[in-house]
Amino acid sequence: MSVLSESLSLHKTVRKHYLSLASGAECQVTYIWIDEAGEKLQCKTRTLNKEPTELRDIPEWTAVWLDCGTLIEVTLVPVKMFRDPFILDPNKLVLCEVVDSNCVPKGSNQRSQCAKVMEAVREFQPWFGMEQEYTLFGLDGQPFGWLPQGCPAIANCAVGIDKVFGRDICNCHYKACLYAGVRICGTNAEALASQWEFQVGPCEGIEMGDDLWMARYILHRVCEDFGVVASLDPNPIKCNNGTAGCHTNFSTKEMRSPGGLQYIKDAIKRLSKRHSQHLRVYDAHDGADNMSRLTSQLSTSSYNDFSTAIASRSVSVRIPGHVSQMGCGYFEDRRPAANCDPYTVMRALVETCLLETPV
Ligand code: ADP
Ligand code: MN
Ligand code: MN
Ligand code: MN
Ligand code: MN
Repeated sequence: MSVLSESLSLHKTVRKHYLSLASGAECQVTYIWIDEAGEKLQCKTRTLNKEPTELRDIPEWTAVWLDCGTLIEVTLVPVKMFRDPFILDPNKLVLCEVVDSNCVPKGSNQRSQCAKVMEAVREFQPWFGMEQEYTLFGLDGQPFGWLPQGCPAIANCAVGIDKVFGRDICNCHYKACLYAGVRICGTNAEALASQWEFQVGPCEGIEMGDDLWMARYILHRVCEDFGVVASLDPNPIKCNNGTAGCHTNFSTKEMRSPGGLQYIKDAIKRLSKRHSQHLRVYDAHDGADNMSRLTSQLSTSSYNDFSTAIASRSVSVRIPGHVSQMGCGYFEDRRPAANCDPYTVMRALVETCLLETPV
C-alpha cells in the first residue's frame, strides 16, 4: 500500500467521527456551478437555518469569476436541488446558473438558452438519455491500475480483476447518484481497463443537462474519496483506441408512438444536413477534440462525413435494432464527446430536428 492510499484510508476513518456528530435544525447546502471555461465544476457550502423543502427556499449567492483577466462578482442562481449523498440528509446539493449583476447569463452558462428552447418545444415532450464515458487516472497521471507493460485487452463490459480497474468507484458513484435523486439508469465497463460509463435518462427537457452535470459533480467527489482522478478527456490516452464519448439518445412523443420510426428517419435526415455545425458544439473545444476522436476506428464514425444505419456502432447516428423492430422509440447520436456540454448538445438536437433554426 502506498503512503498516499494509507493516509487516505486513515483520513476516511477519522472523518466518520465528525460526520456522525449530532446536528441541529441547520442544513448544509453545497452550491455547484460550471466554471468560466464551461468544462469544470466548482462548489462552495453554506449553512441554512432549516432544511429547504423546495428550490425557492435556497437563496441566491455570489461567487468570484474571472472575466477577461479581471475578477468580478457573479450571482449563483439555484436551478435544481438534490440530496447530498456525502454528508447525507437533510443536507443538499444545488446546481446553479451563473448570471452577472444585471441577471444576464455569463458566457459559459449554456443552460439559460437551452431552457428557453426546451420550453418552446415542450409539446413534443423531448426525452434525452446520455451515456457518459470517463477514464480513471492516478495522481501520478498514469491510467489507474495499469501495469507498466501498458494497456490490458479491450475491457468492454469485462469482468475480472485483471481486466477492469475501479469497479468500486463506478458502483459507489451509481449508489450516490440514486441517493441524490439523479436519474441514473445504468453503468458498464468501457473499452479500456479503468474506463467506465454511466447512463442518465430518459429525462424530459432541461432535466437531462441538470442531472448529467450533477452526476459529473458526484463522480469527481467520489473520486476524491478514492484518491483517483476521473477524466472526461475524449482522447484520454493519445496512443490508444480508448476514446471517450457521451452518446446522446433522443426521442419525441411522436417517435415513441406507433409509426414513430418515420419521425426518427425524418430527424436523422435533418441531422445529416448539418453535420459540421453539430460537430462544432459536440465537444468542449469547438470540434477539435472530435476531430481526433472520430477516426472511424473501433465504434467511432467519421469526423468529415455523416452516416447512419440500424444497429451499427460505427456511424454518426444509429437506430437501435430493437427500435427498428418495434417501429418506434428513439435514435442515438454517437458524436458528442465525453467533455461536451449537455445543454449545448440538447439544444442543437432540438433546433435541427424540431425547430429547423440554425445551430
Ligand atoms: P448503448 O446500447 O448505446 O450502449 P445504453 O444502454 O448505454 O445504450 O444507453 C441507452 C440510453 O438511452 C440511456 O441513457 C437511456 O436513458 C436512453 N433512452 C432509453 N429510452 C429512451 C427514449 N425513448 N428516448 C431517449 N432516450 C432514451
Ligand atoms: Mn475568500
Ligand atoms: Mn452505452
Ligand atoms: Mn460506451
Ligand atoms: Mn451508446
